[in-house]
Amino acid sequence: MAQAQVQRRRNGNIRNGNGNGSQCKENDLLLLSRERSEGQGHHHVHRLNLTSSLNKGNNAKATIVTVLALAMAMLLLFYYSSTSTSTSTRITSPSTTGTAYEALSVSVSPDSDAVINLDHGDPTMFEPFWKNAGDKATVVIPGWHTMSYFSDTSNLCWFLEPDFANQVRRLHRIVGNAVTHAHHIIVGVGSTQLIHALLFALSATATGHPVSVVSAAPFYSMYPGITDFLKSGLFRWAGDATSFKVNGSSSFIEIVCSPNNPDGTLRGAVLSTEAGKLVHDLAYYWPQYTPMRGPADEDIMLFTVSKATGHAGTRIGWALVRDADVARRMVKFIEMNSIGVSKDSQVRAARILQVISDGYELPDPDSTTSFFHFSRRLLADRWQRLRRAVEESGRFSLPQFSSEFCEFTKEHAETYPAFAWLRCDDESIEDCEGFFKSMKVLTRSGRHFGAGPEYIRISMLDRAHNFDLFVERIASLGLR
Ligand code: PMP
Repeated sequence: MAQAQVQRRRNGNIRNGNGNGSQCKENDLLLLSRERSEGQGHHHVHRLNLTSSLNKGNNAKATIVTVLALAMAMLLLFYYSSTSTSTSTRITSPSTTGTAYEALSVSVSPDSDAVINLDHGDPTMFEPFWKNAGDKATVVIPGWHTMSYFSDTSNLCWFLEPDFANQVRRLHRIVGNAVTHAHHIIVGVGSTQLIHALLFALSATATGHPVSVVSAAPFYSMYPGITDFLKSGLFRWAGDATSFKVNGSSSFIEIVCSPNNPDGTLRGAVLSTEAGKLVHDLAYYWPQYTPMRGPADEDIMLFTVSKATGHAGTRIGWALVRDADVARRMVKFIEMNSIGVSKDSQVRAARILQVISDGYELPDPDSTTSFFHFSRRLLADRWQRLRRAVEESGRFSLPQFSSEFCEFTKEHAETYPAFAWLRCDDESIEDCEGFFKSMKVLTRSGRHFGAGPEYIRISMLDRAHNFDLFVERIASLGLR
């Protein structure tokens, strides 16, 4: 940071010294050479060589050195004049968000122009673990493998790869986050497809009005879109579960997300289950994010490799479903929608889950083989740094969580959600998303989650470089 400020000051001097970037005078070149020599001795040497050669003024060597030195100085001058404007940017508000932020001049680092996209929960932060895993996590599929549509025709879910199913049950047993013995496993193209399948499966037999789909605000921003995208006559989005009036004659589906996206809270259902059905979206119920309270044992539970292991691109999720009829209707939906789920992806997901389980079951697990411990440490460090920067800024606040005993690690543990649900407390900021956008940080407004514009959701799962830049930008707000 300090280095960046020194660099900015230098840039400013150079611009002032030059006066006009297009007219390059000898004095300017000498000044430039001196500025440069503070940091890089060899430029200073060039200047001395140039001076002594000119004094002699009598040979071709000196002419060549002169030309080279002038060319280099021109290049350096061009470099400085083009960077000096961009490293000291005054950032103003976007037109939609009023003038309140115009007074905020953001201190910028060398990466100041980078737009940091923390809108999506793209879980790339786990890449280092998988790079380190090397061959263990590498899958090779011979050309003649996985050609058939079918995986196991004896299974209700005929497109479920048996090895993937085994690894799912094994990992849940090791982590202790869900019971699986009484449940059917339905694999899907991410848990997104499984939510679609569940809405169909839970409403297909309902008569009369479309079934209302609700979730307590702030809810995962995709639930409304997934529900209403095809304008189904079977179900429709009905908003915040806490303000939903249960009407005796019509049924509902409540999606319970725990830990909750966006705010990280552990949740239970808010509505009585008699008239309705519950879907427990447990995408983040893994030890890197939250202490394990013991195995969940709900009728319908959803998980995904996206958030469990970071393999969002593999597009594999699974549902644990107790009721065979509901499971059968989900399978029907997936048949109609995609005639099953990529076997190649299931093979890969099985290997990934296996590597994690092996890391805990094989002798001497250490930090490089214990995925949840590794990931938890990264998240802990990020949360600590973010909390410090937020506190120093004096403008924002974050949810607080009390530590709890974790049944997996057998120790007290903190909560480190995959998203920071940040509130702009500064009253001059009307639109928190717009304010962060003015700092070139893309986040998702609370509006998408059934909350107000004073909130934003920020992904904590991006690559280290982006996250570091983001924390640096927040920290810079507190420096003025
Ligand atoms: N549920 C929740 C709560 C999520 O956050 C996500 C991903 N952002 C999903 C479901 C969907 O995950 P995927 O389709 O990648 O499995």
